[in-house]
Amino acid sequence: MDLLIPDKVHDESRQGEALVLEPVGKNNGRKLYIESYGCAMNFSDSEIVASILAEKGFETTSDFNTADVIFINTCSIRENAEVRVRNRLKEFAGAKFRNPGMVVGVLGCMAERLKAKFLEEEKLVDVVVGPDAYRDLPNLIDQVDSGQRAVNVLLSREETYADISPVRLNSNGINAFVSIMRGCDNMCSFCVVPFTRGRERSRDAYSVVAECKDLFDKGYREVTLLGQNVDSYKWSRTVAESGEALSVGDEIKVVNFANLLEMVALVSPELRVRFSTSHPKDITDEVLHTIAKYDNICNYIHLPVQSGNSRILDIMNRTYDREWYMNRIDAIRSIIPDCAISTDIITGFCTETEEEHNDSVTMMDYVKYDFAYMFKYSERPGTLAAKRYADDIPEEVKQRRLAQIVAKQQQYSLYRMQARIGKIEKVLIEGFSKKSDKDYCGRSDQNAMVIFPVSEDYKPGQYVNVLVERTTSATLIGTIV
Ligand code: SAM
Ligand code: SF4
Repeated sequence: MDLLIPDKVHDESRQGEALVLEPVGKNNGRKLYIESYGCAMNFSDSEIVASILAEKGFETTSDFNTADVIFINTCSIRENAEVRVRNRLKEFAGAKFRNPGMVVGVLGCMAERLKAKFLEEEKLVDVVVGPDAYRDLPNLIDQVDSGQRAVNVLLSREETYADISPVRLNSNGINAFVSIMRGCDNMCSFCVVPFTRGRERSRDAYSVVAECKDLFDKGYREVTLLGQNVDSYKWSRTVAESGEALSVGDEIKVVNFANLLEMVALVSPELRVRFSTSHPKDITDEVLHTIAKYDNICNYIHLPVQSGNSRILDIMNRTYDREWYMNRIDAIRSIIPDCAISTDIITGFCTETEEEHNDSVTMMDYVKYDFAYMFKYSERPGTLAAKRYADDIPEEVKQRRLAQIVAKQQQYSLYRMQARIGKIEKVLIEGFSKKSDKDYCGRSDQNAMVIFPVSEDYKPGQYVNVLVERTTSATLIGTIV
């Protein structure tokens, strides 16, 4: 039971979603079906893949039975994510049987983790492509067409796909993800990401701003800047490269995350800016002051704690302890008083005692998180934890600890939501609510979902002030004022 409270970055309801684009005019007569699993970064990558193949004349389809190429963009973060993908591959077998010329490809983190082994394990699969090799896809498809199976899992120190403007045609036209960096240089001992997504690299700051400006001009009103550790974003270019006069004596212009946030916020005060994920060891007061300075940078920070116990944090290799994390929470509360905070927590990490688990519970009491993503520890082959520590907490203990923190979080989510009753929230209308087209839904600055009756005077993409009248633990309900 992994509990995911609905959110755009880890959106459970989007798992397995197929990406469908309007034809771009080039047509090679072949259809692409692509579905995605895992985090927002993977969904954003699928848009890059679709853009690369649209250039080669592929059209997308939402029905894999009619496809010439099926791609599945995979996640390796926990074992159950991989099991899901394996089961899905079995479902593609019938389509491939009926159409033997069909190309089936595995993309993303599982491709990177298992490499050519995938071709041995899954006879159905023709092509295996890691997250840094998507530009090679047209060649790899040609290779499969000529009768070979194809693999490219080379990781890169430079690839950021900065020049590819992703197509986003099955989005709502209001919110978009913008990738600002790739990979991760942290070596959290439980995590497979550094092995599947390679070294951290930051994307050209000006290409990020240009993409956000383009989105704004097309009617988008919210961007979420994505990276595994956005606070370590760092990009530089020399005066010679930039061709512009920088400050006197400045040989190199360095853009850190606070600078980038400001640059994106300045695109327009009507463009909301969100970001994910922050790392407790790297989030600076400069970033917090930048959030406080600009109304359009949302007052919401996802700050994964993973554990509230310093010994467990140490063996998780998170490089901060309980006191450091609390200090960062205190800094957020003092610099941005009305900031929502969410987190990730893992229960039952190797050797975790009841007392140590209880430190995670008391951390929840300290912060009173607005949301949390809570997971049982899942050992991942090749990680530092898999090599160094036994996965020694019995399944039922992991489960009990998880159930305890899930119940606690539900109380705090409700507590945070109830505190908004009687307040006026500025909401960006995203569309009709899932349950009724008589209601609109949208998010508050603090990222809470808000539902309110439709008014003819307002359309999706506009901001409205909503008076909150009642609440559930996941939704605020009110009326436009
Ligand atoms: N880079 C982000 C960070 O540092 O928080 C997010 C990384 S990961 C995609 C999202 C979350 O999955 C992590 O924060 C962690 O709580 C969880 N996770 C990662 N590896 C895990 C594992 N082996 N078992 C259980 N949960 C895991
Ligand atoms: Fe994984 Fe840690 Fe990097 Fe997040 S910061 S992606 S948890 S290694």
